[in-house]
Amino acid sequence: MTSEAPEEEFSIHWIRDVTEEVLKRNAAVFLISTGKSPSGSIHIGIMREIIIADVIKRELVRTGNDARTMFVVDDYDPVRSFPASVSLNLEDWVGIPYSDVVDEFGCCGSFGAHYANELIETFDAFGVNPEIIWTSKLYETPEMQDAVRICLKHTEVIRDIMIEYVANDFNEEQKERYIESMKNWYPASVVCPKCGHLQAGAKGAITPNRITSYNPESDMVSFECQACGHSDEVTLDRLRIKLVWRVDWPAKWHVLNVTCEPAGKDHSVKGGSYDTGLEVSRRVFDWPGPVKVPYEWVRIGGRDMSTSEGIVFTPRVWLSIAPPELYRYLLLKTDLTRAINIQPERIPDMIDEYERFERVYYGVEDANETRRELAQLVYPLCLSGDLSPEYIPKLPFKFATVISQLADILGHEATLEKCEQALKKQYGLEEVPQEAKALIEPRLERALYWVRGYGSERDRIEITEEVSQDVLSTLTDPDREFLAKVVELLHHKDLDEDSLQSAIFEAARGVGIKDRRAFVVIYRILISRKSGPRLAPFISTLGRGWVADRIASIL
Ligand SMILES: [Zn+2]
Ligand SMILES: [Zn+2]
Repeated sequence: MTSEAPEEEFSIHWIRDVTEEVLKRNAAVFLISTGKSPSGSIHIGIMREIIIADVIKRELVRTGNDARTMFVVDDYDPVRSFPASVSLNLEDWVGIPYSDVVDEFGCCGSFGAHYANELIETFDAFGVNPEIIWTSKLYETPEMQDAVRICLKHTEVIRDIMIEYVANDFNEEQKERYIESMKNWYPASVVCPKCGHLQAGAKGAITPNRITSYNPESDMVSFECQACGHSDEVTLDRLRIKLVWRVDWPAKWHVLNVTCEPAGKDHSVKGGSYDTGLEVSRRVFDWPGPVKVPYEWVRIGGRDMSTSEGIVFTPRVWLSIAPPELYRYLLLKTDLTRAINIQPERIPDMIDEYERFERVYYGVEDANETRRELAQLVYPLCLSGDLSPEYIPKLPFKFATVISQLADILGHEATLEKCEQALKKQYGLEEVPQEAKALIEPRLERALYWVRGYGSERDRIEITEEVSQDVLSTLTDPDREFLAKVVELLHHKDLDEDSLQSAIFEAARGVGIKDRRAFVVIYRILISRKSGPRLAPFISTLGRGWVADRIASIL
């Protein structure tokens, strides 16, 4: 999927390095956490983080440790903007937590739940099963309320940390202004009990409903709503409070006892929110915080993905065109410091590469020692289901892209029959095992989706019921003479694919037609195009009888 030679960039050391680092923590239960704000359809980039966590967990469990994964849905975050695909009116909802925004589709409890569920529903297919934590619910627990108290009591320490980390690269003037603004600053805001806002204003000009005072003795909190003006002073447990982002993260680490959390480069840059969180962990929660695992982003066709964009390449889109194992394989073989660039048009090549790797694992394909060792370590981690004791032959994806487009002409049964024949031929099988048969239909479905959505002109085949008049009008007398010979050849049962192909070209030359022209004539009649898949195998796929009848019908 990247432009470099795939074999060379294979880097698997990161799994061992990271696992070793995590093991140093000596936890009774290793907890690997991940998280995302459900601000719209979530793109496939998040699966890199979730699978990294899953792989660390699998390695820890394999080496005899107790380990679990977690996915934290940050549905308590307030709306800042909506992606173009959302039809809700932004003005009605901006500043309100995603957990309190209506689900415009009506199927889930909230906007936040809807987009989180869209992602969570694909977890099983990708072979991950993290425990789901909803931040909006977490804040209702006494443990999280205690964490909020701890933070409010440490307001001054947190102010210092914020000045140190946030204002780090400010110039003198900016820094002074920032320090001034922090004088009466508290690290938490209130969801207004009157209007439901956590903050007022939209992107660029946001004013949070910041707490204005906290009394640790009485546990009294005062606040003023920036959206409706309502203000009050009540005890902490009677309010819905949310810590500011850079403090919210370490508070969750503390409450959930997170051992390790991977993070994309936006959060994990030096001095960024992750480092701020670790400093808060040390100075406020009195522990080192989780092991930081920074990773590079996943790009699609060379572009960074963003949830705010209209068209989103989601995990579900991936599953419609490619097996989940391929995605896991891509992550595993790429070092964490390198971006993964998914080029959807190259999916058939990538599937071929992954399936060669799979055959190396099972010893049914030759490979050098290094590659075999690599396959032993990595292949089991690529799987989203159980490891099969034996190799299960897979229908070549490229073949599937051709035959899946012919299913309407061939009929369902004949299509499956031809797939089984192809499997037998490819792997020298007497019988196709049941497990292999079961994989045929999903493969055909994905291949067809891929061709229709991402295949090139060359990959697409459309067979019209009758040969069009346009095609017929281009045929010359020598073309017709040639075609009559082709029909005869197609009835010769003793010609194998190779001899059939040579015989067709000889027939063309016999009537003075060049090879190139012979191709064009046949493809036009079959698929109304000047080129197509390799001729002889394509004729076999369509069936020699069908091709003979098709040609005869126009002579
Ligand atoms: Zn829904
Ligand atoms: Zn209000």
